[in-house]
Amino acid sequence: MPLLSRIITTPIAIEVRRGALERLAPLLADGQISSGGKVAVIVGPGRGEEVAREIRGGLPDATFVPLRGSGSVQDALQAIEELRAGWFDAVVGIGGGRTLDAAKYAASMAGLPFVAVATTLTNDGLASPVASLASAGRKASYGVTPPLAVFVDIDHVRDAPVEHTRSGVGDVLSNLSALADWELAREVTGEPVDGLAASLARSAADALLPLAPGSDRFLTSLADSLILSGIAMSAAGSSRPCSGACHEISHALDALHSSPGLHGAQVALGALFATWWRRDEDLLAILRDAVERHGLPATPEQLGITNADFAEALLEAPRTRPGRFTVLEHRVISADAVHGVIEDYVVAITS
Ligand SMILES: [Zn+2]
Repeated sequence: MPLLSRIITTPIAIEVRRGALERLAPLLADGQISSGGKVAVIVGPGRGEEVAREIRGGLPDATFVPLRGSGSVQDALQAIEELRAGWFDAVVGIGGGRTLDAAKYAASMAGLPFVAVATTLTNDGLASPVASLASAGRKASYGVTPPLAVFVDIDHVRDAPVEHTRSGVGDVLSNLSALADWELAREVTGEPVDGLAASLARSAADALLPLAPGSDRFLTSLADSLILSGIAMSAAGSSRPCSGACHEISHALDALHSSPGLHGAQVALGALFATWWRRDEDLLAILRDAVERHGLPATPEQLGITNADFAEALLEAPRTRPGRFTVLEHRVISADAVHGVIEDYVVAITS
């Protein structure tokens, strides 16, 4: 008897809408996550009061757990202590990328269901089984239980700094380069490609290509695409469909140059460089257009770093994800060649 279907872990409730934060209590009850509102609410530092004002009326029994810092492993460990001191139906994380990653990690470690409420759209961690946290100055990715529910408040997303939304766009666009790396690995090393995961990740990125930034429709599509990317990772059982050489370069920038840009800006530059280095002219034209339209960086200078900084990151990048085969492992860049390669890239991408 052949296997006729498979089960993929996905959130049981997803709501992308205006006013999601105000309606948190009924959304939790409708999703059968918490009928009485006995939840722990993890918020970023300094945001507790503001968020409390919006949700306190509907969730009088919620316990607020503000992160002490900006979402490091240590901040998450502190939150875990507080989660273990009480009894909760679920953990609700409210905020942007770093807060949600720390809250997702804390909930997973405490063995509690997690509800992600996004007020900005900075990365594809919303619905993913991965949390990216800093520890001792380095960022690392941890496998975690994916969220039980994902709510995106479009009113808050619209008011968020434009760099945050751009970062989300960059993270989604980088799927196309990550998928090309995955295909390359299939051709060169025989690594299997999960067609469903690839299809979800590609659809997420393709949906954004025709859209100009600014409208609520665009923000809703971006939220959908980030959620789909997370589900693609759950389907694959790894970050593979959304993370290739683009992300290796970003991890190296985090480690060597203290994250010079937001995650999505770094992976956008990484995706453009990787696509050029893969000699994929068609995809390069598509990505270049999109990166320009959304004001994302195409050169090291536009990210605020020197070519020498970028050279260090390119040399370090393959070491950041041992075992992951991308164009950087296929066409290895030597220390002697790296400066010339970057000069050629900058000429090609700006001409
Ligand atoms: Zn990413």
